[in-house]
Amino acid sequence: MDQVAVLITGAGPTGLTLACGLAAQGVGVRVVDRADGPASTSRANILHARGVEVLERLKAVGDLRERSLAPVGMRMHVRSRPVATMRFAPDARESVQALFVSQAQVEERLRRRLGELGGRVEWGMTVTGAAQDADGVTVEFADGTRVRAGWLAGCDGARSTVREAAGIGFPGVPVVENFLLADVHADWDRDRTVSAGFFHRDGLLLAIPMPGGGDGGDLWRLMADVPALDRRLNDADIIARFEQLLAERTGRSGERIRDAVWTSVFRIHRRLAADYRDGRVLLAGDAAHIHSPIGGRA
Ligand SMILES: Cc1cc2nc3c(=O)[nH]c(=O)nc-3n(C[C@H](O)[C@H](O)[C@H](O)COP(=O)(O)OP(=O)(O)OC[C@H]3O[C@@H](n4cnc5c(N)ncnc54)[C@H](O)[C@@H]3O)c2cc1C
Repeated sequence: MDQVAVLITGAGPTGLTLACGLAAQGVGVRVVDRADGPASTSRANILHARGVEVLERLKAVGDLRERSLAPVGMRMHVRSRPVATMRFAPDARESVQALFVSQAQVEERLRRRLGELGGRVEWGMTVTGAAQDADGVTVEFADGTRVRAGWLAGCDGARSTVREAAGIGFPGVPVVENFLLADVHADWDRDRTVSAGFFHRDGLLLAIPMPGGGDGGDLWRLMADVPALDRRLNDADIIARFEQLLAERTGRSGERIRDAVWTSVFRIHRRLAADYRDGRVLLAGDAAHIHSPIGGRA
């Protein structure tokens, strides 16, 4: 059986970044992902300055700056009263600023760079198990095929199969019952140079400008933590809930959401892998650590 130097499981931002970094150093790499093809949903929408620097070093930034917003930071409010502004860069003259851009776009630029370096993502390949010996790792796939690799990198997200195959624990706790998320077109006159956060005794609400949505832009990411839900919510339920939450938590009534591009309900966990490495198996990204999307990003 041929042996590749490094097999990367997962073509999310972590796996793609690792693949570009290794390929640029001339290391033989294969990237496999169980999905049929690239994800189109926005998911993460802030690339912080350090992330931009990493992409720059990999020559993967491409036209991301032109397709992004570069807000100065996050302004926190108590109802409508601003109480603090956290700047993403301490000085506006910093050469590298955070970008508001969808994860789908970041992944697309990384895939493009990987292509330039002679690599590609092999879609539709689900890793089901792995066994290692002194010389390498034998990786098993759902269709029964096997691949031999010198090293196996588990970049396969929070429910990592690689982590499980290596027997590495993922201790931690759920910290927030439920977060509602919606990317929406909205009719309001909010400032698009900052993202806005609203503290309220019942929870937090965030309104983050996103690139796109016509002249001047009207696309926003809304996020709010809410108590346990008594039923599954559909798109219309989530929009109605946000219209209510906007009035309650920002103190401004009558703000109208026109439609939603993407909605999601998720629960936040804080977990850290017991080890990042077991012999020839390594973990990175969400496979190794997950926490709230608010704060602490690199
Ligand atoms: C609402 C929300 C907002 C967020 N906002 C931000 C933000 O603004 N900034 C930020 O930095 N982060 C943010 N995050 C977090 C960010 O989305 C994740 O940290 C990031 O996607 C992790 O990347 P990853 O490559 O490690 O894993 P993932 O993106 O989860 O990718 C894992 C990949 O592995 C594949 N895979 C899984 N199992 C297998 C298997 N058995 N075989 C083969 N392939 C497999 C999956 O198909 C997937 O493509 C946010 C997250 C959420 C939910």
